[in-house]
Amino acid sequence: MSQVKIIKFGGTSVKNAEAMEGVSQILKAEKAPAVVVLSATAGTTDLLLQMVSAAASGDLNTALELKNALQNRHFELVHKLKLADDSELLGALREWLAKIEVLLKGVYYLGELTDRVKATISAMGELFSSRILASLLKREGRRVCWLDIREVMITDNNFLNAAPQLKTIRGKCRKLLAPELRDGRFVLTQGFIGATESGVTTVLGRGGSDYTAAILGFALDADSVEIWTDVPGVMTADPRIVPSAYSLRELSFTEAAELSFFGARVLHPSTLLPAMEKNIPVRVKNTLDPSDPGTLITREAAHPGRVKAIAFRRHINVVTVESTRMLMAFGFLEKMFAVFANYRIPVDLISTSEISVSLTVGETERLNDIAAELRKFSAVTIKEKMASISLVGDSIKQEPTFLKTVFNALDRVNLEMITFGASNNNLSFVTPEAVLEGTVLRLHEALFEKKGDFA
Ligand code: ADP
Ligand code: ASP
Ligand code: MG
Repeated sequence: MSQVKIIKFGGTSVKNAEAMEGVSQILKAEKAPAVVVLSATAGTTDLLLQMVSAAASGDLNTALELKNALQNRHFELVHKLKLADDSELLGALREWLAKIEVLLKGVYYLGELTDRVKATISAMGELFSSRILASLLKREGRRVCWLDIREVMITDNNFLNAAPQLKTIRGKCRKLLAPELRDGRFVLTQGFIGATESGVTTVLGRGGSDYTAAILGFALDADSVEIWTDVPGVMTADPRIVPSAYSLRELSFTEAAELSFFGARVLHPSTLLPAMEKNIPVRVKNTLDPSDPGTLITREAAHPGRVKAIAFRRHINVVTVESTRMLMAFGFLEKMFAVFANYRIPVDLISTSEISVSLTVGETERLNDIAAELRKFSAVTIKEKMASISLVGDSIKQEPTFLKTVFNALDRVNLEMITFGASNNNLSFVTPEAVLEGTVLRLHEALFEKKGDFA
């Protein structure tokens, strides 16, 4: 099929009636039919998770109060958008709310919260928002087909971080989406959510709607994927921390993938993989200012050798594992990584010396178990409340003055770990979380705000 575009709107892009009307305006400019992927309204997924954990901890009153807040939030949206006469919409919302209540009571009475129930509840936000927008677009005379993506987005049964089954999804897309698009209809569907082959609801991990858009782009051989959010594209740093951050017109797939993997929340870390494989350009656009060009992400990097942006991650742990023998014996690293693999905990950064290895892992409840396992054959120290900072740009390794600029800016900063060189596009280091913001601001100033080679 030619000319298919996937257009994804994030939670802040549909946060209230005004924002939803803004989305409808943006879609008016689309002449050819497209697939529109929607997130839950801002804060809704958090609210759903809060209510289910209140129920699990024995506080049904709070759980039901939060459910009422969810209900009010969405009915207010329906009223403000003047959709209250759409009985099908109201019926669907009421049915889902009743289901949430039954699930909350079930969790409360059982006193147990499984990942499967958590996924089923957290998937509700996308159903609500997409159903409301579909009603709005229909009322405006658009030819729209609302699709429950769980019929298409088939995943494994890792309920909260489900892996999409691309081959099956491709087949389902051809069968269910392609005919609608050929017929000239917009397909409006949900991000983030999926289902196992047998129909049990799963989710793709927090922030997963971007990933949904990329997977649909892959499956439909789309010619572009647009991610609409609340900032003017991918910026030199998170503007919430660095007010002087500015947006980047172009990035390569590898740069964007690396930035998101190392903490730039503007894109879900898995988003670029399907796009990269089929060479589908990804554009990050600003819902608040549709005329802004945003960022275009393609295969080729503009200005290789320059650092493009700073990403960071809070709440990480540095685990230092020291071989208890004099030198690292054969097989030591293998044994050590096997422990992390058995607990299914990804290791992010690594640096090694002759007798010890330092590595970082994100927040995990399993850290003590892992440490106990490692202590069977090594000495282990753990430093919590750490942060990683990553400087990303294709071919930065080839740029000799870059390191000098960086280390000048880092003068007197307590560096716990440094990694550089494994890939050609990333210099990462670890500092105590307490100095993260100041360090990011200093680096941004040195790399992007002074007249020089890198800005
Ligand atoms: P959405 O709900 O649209 O998916 P997110 O909140 O997930 O939006 O992502 C957008 C946010 O990502 C921005 O508001 C911004 O604070 C944050 N962010 C972090 N790093 C960057 C960056 N390098 N460029 C732009 N935004 C960033
Ligand atoms: N609603 C989901 C979340 O809050 C997915 C997303 O917004 O991308 O994580
Ligand atoms: Mg997001």
